[in-house]
Amino acid sequence: MIATHNPGKLAELRELLAPYGIAAQSAGELGLSEPKETGKTFAANARIKAMAAAKATDRPAFADDSGLVVDALGGEPGIHSARWAGPDKDFRFAMNRIQTRLIERGARNAEQRRAHFIAALCLAWPDGHVEQFEGRVDGVAAWPPRGDQGFGYDPLFLPDGFDRTFGQMSAEEKHGLPPKGKGLSHRARAFMKLADACLRSA
Ligand code: IMP
Repeated sequence: MIATHNPGKLAELRELLAPYGIAAQSAGELGLSEPKETGKTFAANARIKAMAAAKATDRPAFADDSGLVVDALGGEPGIHSARWAGPDKDFRFAMNRIQTRLIERGARNAEQRRAHFIAALCLAWPDGHVEQFEGRVDGVAAWPPRGDQGFGYDPLFLPDGFDRTFGQMSAEEKHGLPPKGKGLSHRARAFMKLADACLRSA
């Protein structure tokens, strides 16, 4: 079970699980309702989603709670990253909102526009056992947004050491795992920790 209704996340999580011989159904595909994300941290919200799905299906469930943390905005959108896109899930709107707030605060150069993505992964079993892991990737909130790959805030995020945003990277470059990829994204970094602790290659 992958406890998500987000198609972008689902695609990435499926790609990460595939080398381990794990084919998972998603909460969205099974029509499960989305639990309220009442936690104050990424980890707490990942746990809420994984436990709700494990209970509802009586199967081990895997959840990701993630978001973009912009230093000059006091950490926002952070755990509210999905909400900033509004009911229409319009990430152009959300990226514009970040840019407007950064300009209001006079943040123009790269140093003033530091940001990072965080991914908290939680694996929950129906008996209540949970395992949790976190990954982070640092970079800059670039403007204008560039690229049409990936999802969410990818076109805005320029990872350190690269001159292309996540939106301009292939899936393999963004979250491919070694030996083919470098495990660059927050989700890939969290997943490598989870795989080390909980999974065996197929
Ligand atoms: P939630 O974890 O379902 O609360 O939503 C996290 C939100 O953070 C997503 O809807 C995206 O907007 C954003 N996000 C998380 N990970 C990524 C990523 O890898 N690329 C772009 N946006 C992301």
